[in-house]
Amino acid sequence: MKLEAVIGLEIHVQISTKTKMFCRCSNDSFDKEANINTCPVCMGFPGQLPVINEEAVLKGAKAALALNCEIKEHSKFDRKNYFYPDSPKGFQISQYDEPISENGFIDVDITDESRTIKVGITRLHLEDDAGKLTHITGASLVDFNRAGTPLMEIVSDPDLRSAKEAGAYAREVQKIVRYVGSADADMEKGMMRFDASVSLRPKGEEKLYARAEIKNLNSFKILETAINYEIKRQTELWKEGNVPDKPSTVGWDDDKGKTFFMREKEESDDYRYFPEPDLPPILMTQEIVDNLKSEIPELPNIKKKKYIEELGLLEDDARILSADLKLAQYFEEVVDKSGDAKKAVSFINTILMKHLREELIEIDDQKVLPSMMAELIKLVNDGDISNNVAKGEVFEEMYATGKSPSKIVEEKGLKQVSDTGAIEEACKKVIEAHPGPVQDIRDGKDKAIGFLVGMVMKETKGQANPKMVNDTIKKLIS
Ligand code: ZN
Ligand code: MN
Repeated sequence: MKLEAVIGLEIHVQISTKTKMFCRCSNDSFDKEANINTCPVCMGFPGQLPVINEEAVLKGAKAALALNCEIKEHSKFDRKNYFYPDSPKGFQISQYDEPISENGFIDVDITDESRTIKVGITRLHLEDDAGKLTHITGASLVDFNRAGTPLMEIVSDPDLRSAKEAGAYAREVQKIVRYVGSADADMEKGMMRFDASVSLRPKGEEKLYARAEIKNLNSFKILETAINYEIKRQTELWKEGNVPDKPSTVGWDDDKGKTFFMREKEESDDYRYFPEPDLPPILMTQEIVDNLKSEIPELPNIKKKKYIEELGLLEDDARILSADLKLAQYFEEVVDKSGDAKKAVSFINTILMKHLREELIEIDDQKVLPSMMAELIKLVNDGDISNNVAKGEVFEEMYATGKSPSKIVEEKGLKQVSDTGAIEEACKKVIEAHPGPVQDIRDGKDKAIGFLVGMVMKETKGQANPKMVNDTIKKLIS
């Protein structure tokens, strides 16, 4: 019997807002002292009234639209009741039966297999986050800075068939929520976390079997490793005839590389959901939705396709340049101004990105503007400087000082000599001085021409246009 994996993901993404979901506490708790961003509302003091953060609702809705979801005109918040030490209210405010959006999908490229899958998105809803527990020997510490932080929970349909597909889908979601500016989705800061539901079924069957939900996976690598482990574990169970019949919640032990049983999966009844009495429902008018739609930029997979089909980029280059909106916009401006997509890719991906990666800075935190990069490319294409001089000396100076490339070329006297007379004179001189190689060329040994070109370059201090030198030598000898 051939088994196939059936995987669905729930992705929790922190929405990038100034303040928390229902109070005025700062939503920036990175590197902050514990419990500093707290107030009676997010600490769940009795009688405190929450207020909905408009920015969070709009950014959540925008992400939903980019994921092709329908925005519901009417939605509401509900209380999801459960006790956990890092959740001071004793309940989470989430959305149960009337989420802000439903029924989306995204196309996901499985790059190294040259295929695309369509992944359905059941819903994107809004909720608030819990605080954070740190377990030390003999005690547990709690930090409520994160309690009340706005989250969007993105629930996929069970459309994924492997860990690799799940990883690719999760990465695409990350790109999209970043593109629309709804989230930073920084995995290292815990701003994006995954729960993966995994079950198996005989290939060809449509039925869903009891799933194991792996909770709180916080990197792409761990997501894929945990899913692969769970597929293997359940495959063994099927082989032994122990087909899982109860849904379960499992955790991931990264040290052991194993999932572990936590509990039988809670049903929604267990949470005693009821409409949050302290919050009004949300009304999303067509006007608000249209406004949000108009703010959504061209999305990464569309850009990638365009780069390949219209600009002739290789898939890898197109993927790298489209992954981040600012980088994509930079690239497009350089192409626009230089008219040379090929050189734009090569100059950005090799020399500029190398600096950014090494220095861990963003593309808009450095001095080489797109117009300067385009000018540099033009200097090469006009024969004013060689490719090597451009990528080396001129780029480095431009990167360090922010000076325009033509100014650098002028100041450093780097302009190639394209003056026919000067080049011819230098060539004549070299030909006279080296009768041996000249004879070799006449005898058909074309290799010798490289030597003569080198000598002319030396004679002109590297500033002669090499192609012109080559042509001139050939002309003079014949
Ligand atoms: Zn607060
Ligand atoms: Mn949730």
